[in-house]
Amino acid sequence: TTELDVAGVRGMFVAACDAMLENIELLTHADQAIGDGDHGVGMKRGFAAALAFLNENEPANVGEIFKGVGGAIMSASGGASGAIFGTFFRAGNKSIGDAVMLDGAGFAAFLKAGLEAVEKRGGAAPGGKTMIDALDPAATAASGAGEDLEAVLAAAAAAAKDGVEATKSMIATTGKARTLGERSLGHPDPGAISLSIVLDAMAKAAAG
Ligand code: ADP
Ligand code: MG
Ligand code: MG
Repeated sequence: TTELDVAGVRGMFVAACDAMLENIELLTHADQAIGDGDHGVGMKRGFAAALAFLNENEPANVGEIFKGVGGAIMSASGGASGAIFGTFFRAGNKSIGDAVMLDGAGFAAFLKAGLEAVEKRGGAAPGGKTMIDALDPAATAASGAGEDLEAVLAAAAAAAKDGVEATKSMIATTGKARTLGERSLGHPDPGAISLSIVLDAMAKAAAG
């Protein structure tokens, strides 16, 4: 797949929502280890709302999909991650706008815009043991992976997965886990896991 039309992008987002909803327990356990244990519940609410948006609307362009998914997560999720993931997806509406096709360069532009929006909104930076530590390497990998959507998504998903691993050796400086200090060592960041699940499901959907 070099690019996807509106229906294809919708399918890619449905796959991401399904994958998130299948991994709620994993996210709960990850947040129980270094946070307050509500990341699974929050993501369940957010991605169920996103799935409802996708099932109940006929988006006219790719930007409307990003906007609707981000808005649903922002209003339904709660917690730090509701605002962060909502902001992330909504940034895609600004970068992609009324385009009716999404290619690899468009997805790479979304990841870059999403990273910038998340950093601005939450004030965290790479190395702070947040979803940024999966998103930043994913955005970098995507920007060097060309025009082909399937190739860009594969590169982004692989980099995000490595980013999750890297968060294990980081000491949290942001969010709930920061009060743990060195006790957060050895555990991956829950939000980074979520970002990795989303990109992995999108990569598989684009490849299938
Ligand atoms: P809360 O921390 O409010 O309980 P969640 O448990 O749902 O919210 O989400 C926690 C995740 O949110 C963290 O693992 C981290 O990845 C992400 N996060 C928290 N604060 C920030 C921030 N300022 N910037 C980026 N990501 C953040
Ligand atoms: Mg939490
Ligand atoms: Mg909480």
